[in-house]
Amino acid sequence: MSDASLLPLGLFGGTFDPVHFGHLRLAEEAIAHLGLGGVRWLPAGQPPHRGVPQVTAGQRLDMVRRATAGNPCFTVDPAEVEAAAPSYTVHTLERLRRELGEAQPLVLLVGADAFAGLAAWHRWRDLFALAHIAVSHRPGFPVETASLPHELATEFADRRLADVSALRAAPAGGIVTFAMTQLAISATQIRKLLANGLSARYLLPDDVLDYIQTHSLYRNP
Ligand code: ATP
Repeated sequence: MSDASLLPLGLFGGTFDPVHFGHLRLAEEAIAHLGLGGVRWLPAGQPPHRGVPQVTAGQRLDMVRRATAGNPCFTVDPAEVEAAAPSYTVHTLERLRRELGEAQPLVLLVGADAFAGLAAWHRWRDLFALAHIAVSHRPGFPVETASLPHELATEFADRRLADVSALRAAPAGGIVTFAMTQLAISATQIRKLLANGLSARYLLPDDVLDYIQTHSLYRNP
C-alpha cells in the first residue's frame, strides 16, 4: 500500500552524453504533469545498451550537476557513475526501494524511444514491481501500442493508468504517458555538431557548453 501523503518521486536515468534541454524540459514538465515531489537524476555509469560514451562517466555526471544546479526540485544521484558494475536500472530501483521504503511511489521517467526498447532491459518485468513508468512523447517516436513489441504492448495495455493521480495511490506498477513540449534535440545531434566544429548553442545550457569547451570534449567525429 502507498501512503497518500507521499508525493511520487521521479527517477530519470540516461547517458546524458551530454545533457540537453530535451532532458531538462522532460524532468521539469514531468513534475507539473505528474504531480511529482521532485526528480532524482541518475546518470548511467557503463550503459549496457549502447556503445562506449565519448567522455568519461565523471564528466557526464559533472555536466548533469551543472545543468540541474539551482533547481531545488532536482537532485543528482552519482551511484551508477561511481559503481564498478554495469548500470542496470532494475538494480538501481532495488537500491532506491531499500533507501526510500516500500510506501514511496516511484516513477521512472523515460522518453518514448527508450520505452519502446524496454523489453530488452535486464529483468525488465521486475521493473513494474519497483516503480511506475511515465513515458514522455518525443518527436519521431509515437507512443502507440502498434509501435511496441507484443509483450511490451500487452504490459502497456494492462498497466496503463487512466489518470496520473493514480500514481499516488500505489508505490509502483502503473504506466502513464505525458505530452511534453516537443523538442527534437538529441545528444547524438549535439555530438555531431561539436565534432564538426559547429555551434550547439541554445540546444543545451550555457554552463554545460562552457564545460564542454573548457575540457575540449566531443571534438573528434
Ligand atoms: P543519444 O542521442 O546519445 O541517444 P539522447 O538525447 O536520446 O541521447 P539519453 O541520455 O539517451 O539522450 O536519454 C535519456 C532519456 O531522455 C531517455 O529516456 C530519452 O528517451 C529521453 N530523451 C532524450 N531526449 C529527449 C527529447 N528531446 N524529448 C523527449 N525525451 C528525450
